[in-house]
Amino acid sequence: MKTAGCYSYQVRVTIAMFDIDGTLLRAGGAGRRAVERALDDRLGKALGTISLEAVEFAGRTDPWIVREALTHYGVAPDEGLIAEVLRLYVEYLPDELERAPAFEVLPGVRALLEILITRDDTLLGLGTGNTEAAAYAKLRRGQIDSFFAFGGFGSDHLDRAELLRVGFERARARTSAAAHRVVVIGDTPHDVVAAQAIGAECIAVSTGWYDSASLAAAGANHVVADLEDERVIDAITGGLAISKDV
Ligand SMILES: [Mg+2]
Repeated sequence: MKTAGCYSYQVRVTIAMFDIDGTLLRAGGAGRRAVERALDDRLGKALGTISLEAVEFAGRTDPWIVREALTHYGVAPDEGLIAEVLRLYVEYLPDELERAPAFEVLPGVRALLEILITRDDTLLGLGTGNTEAAAYAKLRRGQIDSFFAFGGFGSDHLDRAELLRVGFERARARTSAAAHRVVVIGDTPHDVVAAQAIGAECIAVSTGWYDSASLAAAGANHVVADLEDERVIDAITGGLAISKDV
């Protein structure tokens, strides 16, 4: 906008919040095994052999998963017990991550982050159901932890939309920009619905448990096969619309 011989700029930043599992990386079952070990430590004698194959992890928060696992075994999920199981889980996770042969950082992730980190108009953060400690354990294993300056985590809230709100507030505290555009990048309908709940755009990537059709049906603004798709940068920074019809 040009006014009376001087320019005034409406500075707008994009707050990008990335999910972790199925979006940035695959932990190769390390998370599930660490939760099983934590439950076994705390309740093993009472529960027998622990297996969480029947509990759906994708798109869920860590406290939700532990609550669900306890309920699955008929144990009352009181807050103290959930906190204790989560503490043990975080203790076992680095070891399980180290031993997971199938651990991988997903295609295009590192290159995308290396570009986004150089941009002044984009804040790179996390919006993940992992507790903060578990999130950084996974990112460290993939050597991509240094890209993220803030986040909303499973340790902030049981509900995915609420933890995104926490992440958004943390991002806002880091910038003086007057206007914000919020983009959530995730791999499940839970990410899409949570993004919508806070008025964010959602880029859904089908490198996790859900295919493109179900992510589009959930209402994602953009759907891509993986983050190697060169249109993703523009979709995150606001330059280009990607079709949902992939
Ligand atoms: Mg995920």
